[in-house]
Amino acid sequence: MKRVGVLALQGGWAAHLRALSDVGCEPVEVRRADQVDALDGLVLPGGESTTHLLLVERFGLRPALDAFVASDRPVLCTCAGLILAAKAVHHPDQPSFGWLDVDVARNAWGRQVHSFEAHADGDDLPLLFIRAPRLERVGPDVEVTARFEGEPVMVRQGNLVGASFHPELTPDRRVHRALFG
Ligand code: GLN
Repeated sequence: MKRVGVLALQGGWAAHLRALSDVGCEPVEVRRADQVDALDGLVLPGGESTTHLLLVERFGLRPALDAFVASDRPVLCTCAGLILAAKAVHHPDQPSFGWLDVDVARNAWGRQVHSFEAHADGDDLPLLFIRAPRLERVGPDVEVTARFEGEPVMVRQGNLVGASFHPELTPDRRVHRALFG
């Protein structure tokens, strides 16, 4: 059974644990750097990205996370996780890890309503947005795997998948299954 970690410092990590169980993985709550290398996959959940950055720094997790991404094992970054993984972050500007060659604007889908549910263009994949980041730039080596109203909302680059929505909060398990199932 694959052991997949969810960064459990803050935010929406609990629903990812359930989604991982649903696709037959053993979910692991990750709070320490020494837990990371033993995992088969990793999830950076939603939440508040500024707080995430501070806690990753405080708990000394950054080198272990960087090494995990470089090891080519699957990593899912949702919402605030996508903000952490991006190359550049705007609205407001904020440091990030630069794993994924995209630029994001924070809270950019939130102008319509704070949260809303929709479906991906040409698909029945449910999209739940909670003050979600917008993908402002997608690099040439990044594949767009879902769009909403023509705009990218899920991307893949090598072992990394980034989603601006919350696949863990809807019953559809395709996103978790594709990466970790
Ligand atoms: N608005 C949050 C941020 O900028 C992300 C929202 C979420 O993860 N649901 O960090």
